[in-house]
Formats: sequence, C-alpha cells, structure tokens
Amino acid sequence: MAPVKFHDKYFVPYISSAEIQEKVVELARRLNEDYKGKRPLFISVLNGSFMFTADLFKYLTIEAEVCFIKLASYKGTKSSGQILTAIGLDTDINNRDIVILEDIIDTGKTMTEFLRQINHQQPTSLKIAVLLHKPTATAYPLTIDYTCFSIPDKFVVGYGLDYDGLGRNLSQLYQLDEDNED
Ligand code: 5GP
Ligand code: MG
Repeated sequence: MAPVKFHDKYFVPYISSAEIQEKVVELARRLNEDYKGKRPLFISVLNGSFMFTADLFKYLTIEAEVCFIKLASYKGTKSSGQILTAIGLDTDINNRDIVILEDIIDTGKTMTEFLRQINHQQPTSLKIAVLLHKPTATAYPLTIDYTCFSIPDKFVVGYGLDYDGLGRNLSQLYQLDEDNED
C-alpha cells in the first residue's frame, strides 16, 4: 500500500484494517464476558475514538450504553500539554459500571485529567479500554485494563486519529514517515 500525505507530512501503512477488526472483535468478546449480566456505560472520548467506538459497539452483545465527551490536548504531532474540555459528561456515573474508550494513550495526561474531573463521583467500577497505547511515552501512572495494540512512540493517523484534522477516514493505521518530511 502506498504512503499518504496530509499537509506537510507523509505517512506509511502500519496496521491493516483486518488486524484492527480482529483486535476489536477480541476486545468485544472480553467485554461481553467481563460485563455479562451488567449494563456498563461506555464513555467515548471524542474526536479520535469515534470509529473505534462504533466498530466495538457492533460486536457487543451485552446491554450497553454509550455517551461521549470531548477532550483535546494535541496540536499537530506534539502534545500541547493543555487539556481542553469541549464537551463535558452529561450522564450520571454514580453506581454505574464505567468503561472509558480512548483511541490512544500517549503521555497519559488527557486520561489523568479526565479521571481527576470525575473523581468526586462514585461509579461501581471504572475501567479503561484503548485501541492504542504508547507505553514508552506514558509519564502518568495509569492502569489500562484493555489494550488492543501497544505501539512505539511514533505519531500515527487513520481509523479516527488525525493529523491536524485530516486522516480520520482511513480504515487502517498509518505511521509518520520521519525520513520523508517536506
Ligand atoms: P496524551 O494526553 O495521552 O498525551 O494524549 C492523548 C491524546 O493525544 C489522544 O487522545 C489523541 O487524541 C492524541 N494523540 C496521542 N498520540 C497520538 C498519535 O500518535 N496520533 C494522533 N493522531 N493523535 C495522538
Ligand atoms: Mg483521543
């Protein structure tokens, strides 16, 4: 498969659509098992998690609810360090089984900030499920309960993830080609 270009950068094919689907189905199978007889509330973190959330939901057979929040910390390919809450939580999470769905955990700052925002509430349980985790970049102590892929600390786009707004519609993941920059 050919490289793609967004703005000034080139990206090379990284994880295929079939590999992603396989992991998403496997995650759904584990969640169906772990939450059997319960009715978890999935909190999906926009924008990056929309495709992951939509695909995962098709394979859930348990009773499940979903709501969306929007946090953002990225500008270009580097974390800006500032977390913006653009859409807050509109659903009561007290006495609920919560699963947070994130596209990617990089430094862990965004997730840590969200957990801080909700720490006065009392969910029955709270777990984190991610499509991608960059363990070598993660600087905040976080327990990630479900991870589809652990990846190196390189910028990726596709499958919901963007580079300055572009690339979200790709059905597979691409990785920044650091040897080929304008
Ligand atoms: P953190 O706060 O963990 O450093 O960053 C989390 C957020 O940064 C993610 O939800 C995602 O929006 C963005 N992010 C982190 N790494 C990447 C990456 O490799 N590619 C893209 N497109 N976004 C990323
Ligand atoms: Mg995200």
